[in-house]
Amino acid sequence: MVGTLSMEVLSDAGYSAELVTDSRMAMSVIKERKPRLVLLDILMPGLDGLTLCHMIKTDPVTSRTKVAVVSAKSFKSEMERAKSFGADMFIKKPYDLKEFPKQVRVLCGPPAGEGKAKKNVLKVRAWGGREKTSTPCLSIEALGRLFILDAGKGVQALGAEFLKQGTYKEAWLLISHFHEDHVSGLGALPFLREESFHLHVIGPSEPDKKITLLLREAMQKSMGSDPRPIKAKIQVHEVREESYELVSGVRVAPFYANHPTTTLGYVLELGGRRIVYCPDTELYGEAATALQDYDEKIGRLVRSADLLIHDARYTDADYAQHKDEGHSSVTSAAQFAADNEVRNLLLIHADPSYPDSFLPTMEADAKKVMEGKGAQIPCSVVRDGLSLEV
Ligand SMILES: [Zn+2]
Repeated sequence: MVGTLSMEVLSDAGYSAELVTDSRMAMSVIKERKPRLVLLDILMPGLDGLTLCHMIKTDPVTSRTKVAVVSAKSFKSEMERAKSFGADMFIKKPYDLKEFPKQVRVLCGPPAGEGKAKKNVLKVRAWGGREKTSTPCLSIEALGRLFILDAGKGVQALGAEFLKQGTYKEAWLLISHFHEDHVSGLGALPFLREESFHLHVIGPSEPDKKITLLLREAMQKSMGSDPRPIKAKIQVHEVREESYELVSGVRVAPFYANHPTTTLGYVLELGGRRIVYCPDTELYGEAATALQDYDEKIGRLVRSADLLIHDARYTDADYAQHKDEGHSSVTSAAQFAADNEVRNLLLIHADPSYPDSFLPTMEADAKKVMEGKGAQIPCSVVRDGLSLEV
């Protein structure tokens, strides 16, 4: 089949590709994954290729996706028609297997992984003690930029360290929700006192409270002992379940998580990697009923992610006592990671009553669950100082 052959050629050339066999499904897959390039045939079962091309090019969410029309129907008039519907390239079938990856490269640039080891390393670090507090805060450094996931207590040390290094004058802080543990360090963030610092804060509003008010309240509560006034330039962005370009080459797609209060998870795409951050959410796991399609919905976002950072608050035994409270068990998070074939897994938000010495047991349990599903996924439980490169 031509589709399968194209996939093989592209994957040999270092690209990650996905085959959608039902063209009626294609548009929803394209909107969700936002590929750099869509290859389509004029004659496809279901929806014809030029109609799909036109849909991609006229939808604001997908209009920047490149489209190559591959067809044996290589009449001049057909090529012109493809162009008029926005096609970026017309590739005649049967195509030259050597030329094909080169044509793809011309259209959408080199594969995401090319040169990864040298320049596009993405560094993830965890900040803040877990025992007794367990307040999430992670930094991601990539493409010369700094991103912060939640502002738990560790954000103070994070800010102090990066100010000392002097590398960044700007950062993006993504807040999942306004439960206290996720913003308990916010007011003490040293960046806020720096006049030359530009902080972008991204997060949800609640139905009865705008994000600006939520932030103000969170800051007042967490000012700590630093009496210096706030001088940084702060830009607040209220987000919902859409896709946004944070800055050139960095996209974020928030999604609603299964947790009390308005809670977001984030799909972050940068440097050719996809990171999914979902610190507070309850997976239904294998006990899901037909009406509980949350795991499936989020699974589609998580599939093949380079890194999944997921809630795994409880052991299975403790989870039984805390069902329907908005947090997941180690087993359900590990199953979810294996089912969706993620490349790396970080389990976050282990219950504060567990001592750090217990975390290796949680990691071993998660690995056992994944191995039971035939998956070998590197996995750690988040604690202060944890660092990994993706
Ligand atoms: Zn919460």
